[in-house]
Amino acid sequence: MPRFELNDTDVVVIVGSGAGGGTMANELTRRGLKVVLFEAGKRQSLATFSQNPSEAFAQLTWLEPRSQSGTWDPVKNSPTLPAWHCRTVGGTTVHWTAATPRLQPYELRARSVYGDIPGASLADWPIDYDELKRWYQVAEKRLGVTRRNGNPGLPASNNFKVMHAGARRLGYKRVHTNYMAINSRARDGRGFCIQQGFCAQGCKTGAKWSTLYTEIPQAEASGRLDLRSECFVTRIEHDDAGRASGVVYRDAAGVEQRQRARIVCVAGNAIETARLLLLSESGRFRQGLANGSDQVGRNYCHHVLSFVFGIFDQPVSFWRGAVLAGVVEDENIHDPRRGFAGGYHLELAMLDLPTLPLIGLPYGWGRDYASIIDNYRNMAGMLVNGEDLPRADNRITLSTTRKDAYGLPVAHIHCDPHANDVAMRAHATGQGRKIYESVGAKRTVVSSIPPATHQMGTARMSHDPAQGVTNAHGRAHEVPNLFMSDGSVQTTAGAANPTLTIVALALRQAEYIGREAAGGRL
Ligand SMILES: Cc1cc2nc3c(=O)[nH]c(=O)nc-3n(C[C@H](O)[C@H](O)[C@H](O)COP(=O)(O)OP(=O)(O)OC[C@H]3O[C@@H](n4cnc5c(N)ncnc54)[C@H](O)[C@@H]3O)c2cc1C
Ligand code: SF4
Repeated sequence: MPRFELNDTDVVVIVGSGAGGGTMANELTRRGLKVVLFEAGKRQSLATFSQNPSEAFAQLTWLEPRSQSGTWDPVKNSPTLPAWHCRTVGGTTVHWTAATPRLQPYELRARSVYGDIPGASLADWPIDYDELKRWYQVAEKRLGVTRRNGNPGLPASNNFKVMHAGARRLGYKRVHTNYMAINSRARDGRGFCIQQGFCAQGCKTGAKWSTLYTEIPQAEASGRLDLRSECFVTRIEHDDAGRASGVVYRDAAGVEQRQRARIVCVAGNAIETARLLLLSESGRFRQGLANGSDQVGRNYCHHVLSFVFGIFDQPVSFWRGAVLAGVVEDENIHDPRRGFAGGYHLELAMLDLPTLPLIGLPYGWGRDYASIIDNYRNMAGMLVNGEDLPRADNRITLSTTRKDAYGLPVAHIHCDPHANDVAMRAHATGQGRKIYESVGAKRTVVSSIPPATHQMGTARMSHDPAQGVTNAHGRAHEVPNLFMSDGSVQTTAGAANPTLTIVALALRQAEYIGREAAGGRL
């Protein structure tokens, strides 16, 4: 692997090696560009993944405590971990559950379709759906998404069969084993899913797509990738003309270093992306880099999430099978007669036993909790994944109370759910309960809102520079060689799990950067 000079002004710096950053690294090196890829976490492998959930959590998770405020459940239930994502080479794609639905056309026009909803900061995306669809098709081929391009769907697990039977009884029609970035047959030099259900601990067969063992090794093979793991970027610098000129980082030994750059792409997962821009304030960018609009960190979206469990007389063994391989798509529509704008998915889900009481159950220890756990074998589970509305004050700022190991303020998360989110959650969990009750559940249990696993919107794309941070290519409105390459650019959340969209937009952005760089315009 090459090691580029710290003063090499020709390299592209990418911050973060997950869905967005890992994809960018592969695409840019393929186009002949030299890339330095910074990753704060360590590198693991199929061999080092632990299938012990607690060990895996410690191995992969971004554990630095954050501060938070607001009325959102995770503020009180999960005080140091309101948002759950990874800090490891491959980012959260090591640990994700790989559901890859597309956004729907109406979701890109949320402001026009839903109207001006008080308390929400809706905007339309600056991209046409047909354009995004073209990149979805490229991304789906890259990820080997099931039920697309002739890839078979994953097999139906017991958990899915229960959900499917109940959903059909309720009259739902679009019920299937989901679009999954998991090999249903061997492809791309990787094996197929053996249905062992450890997706969130790191897939030891490599059947699940992760940049750790797809995009990053391909970029390394190009001879143009310098991957610096355990290196934490603390600041993006700029020159007198206001162009990004490089980054300051702490290397694996904690020593401060400075890497110069021609282009900087930030893909730290939307919370850390916003934090890094805010940490990079300067005399010229007093509110944070690229933040003249004061939109950096605002409009933080994380989806309307809840688990719904059904407890049955017979065993379901819901831990067997790919975790999210099932979906009811019928509610992913905009139908205000339901009492809210936007739509949601009901997706299959299970929680391993150690995680269930942490994020999946609304109760403390006691008799009732014990009776639920007694029935673990007989539980079926699903996850509500719905569109939450952006709000100007749901935002990431720099904490005034907590600092990281280098003395830098950690991210502070403020979140108050919009009334629309509350109404959607009530509807969706109600439908979830009905699904299980229709096939004989003796009890249903709804979780409180778990920590956010999908982070979006904190540096959103906008037509109008005053309403966002980047243009339709994820290029900062104010800094011409600074790009955001992760979920922070989503103008609105939609109801689709975000990663397919992140990859599609990264592929599109890489083509743009490659073209502009080749033409000498970047
Ligand atoms: C339990 C769970 C299940 C999920 N399941 C799904 C799913 O089924 N479908 C789906 O679409 N999505 C899912 N997701 C979400 C998905 O993983 C993320 O949307 C996706 O990985 C985000 O990509 P990203 O590039 O923004 O960030 P990440 O993939 O999180 O990568 C960001 C990387 O940047 C690094 N980083 C951050 N700041 C710095 C810095 N300053 N310096 C150096 N490195 C830095 C981090 O360490 C991290 O490795 C799930 C998430 C979780 C937690
Ligand atoms: S169920 Fe499939 S995708 Fe999940 S860990 Fe097992 S082999 Fe990997």
